Amino acid sequence: MARLTIKSSTEGDATVYVLGGSVTAGAGDVLVKGTKNAAKHCAFDWDDVILANSDGLREWSAFFGPFAAGREVVFRRCRPGVVASFNMIPACVKGGRVDSLYGAFFCPECRKEHDCLLVVGTDVKPEVGLVRELGCPWCGDGSPELNLPEDEFFQILRWGR
Ligand SMILES: [Zn+2]
Repeated sequence: MARLTIKSSTEGDATVYVLGGSVTAGAGDVLVKGTKNAAKHCAFDWDDVILANSDGLREWSAFFGPFAAGREVVFRRCRPGVVASFNMIPACVKGGRVDSLYGAFFCPECRKEHDCLLVVGTDVKPEVGLVRELGCPWCGDGSPELNLPEDEFFQILRWGR
């Protein structure tokens, strides 16, 4: 389990934080140090974070509550495992907004799995769930199904500020 890493860059007037490794014990220190000069608008990119455990998530939510106060914060590219953890702990997301996330899909046609990036507003809507057909990247056919009930998986989208 590689510890959490954080890299910052600027996108217009926003600070973008690319996270990597795992959100585990010690993540809080990394986050506090890594976000010292955060702008009012911030994005956290979760693409490279595969794992988050309960110690790490406790530290994340302790960090994120105060951090999000007075800021506009979006989450990008959250992986299914991280989404599942967030769904159990609303404090991880509260004060922020999810812009995009990966759903884990299974194709009944070719019986393969894949993660598909879903953009909120285009592919999925908070009160509706999936709003368009997403083809299978393996067989180009079929109607892949989300491996969890939509209601359950997309909970975090309904926890806006
Ligand atoms: Zn398929």
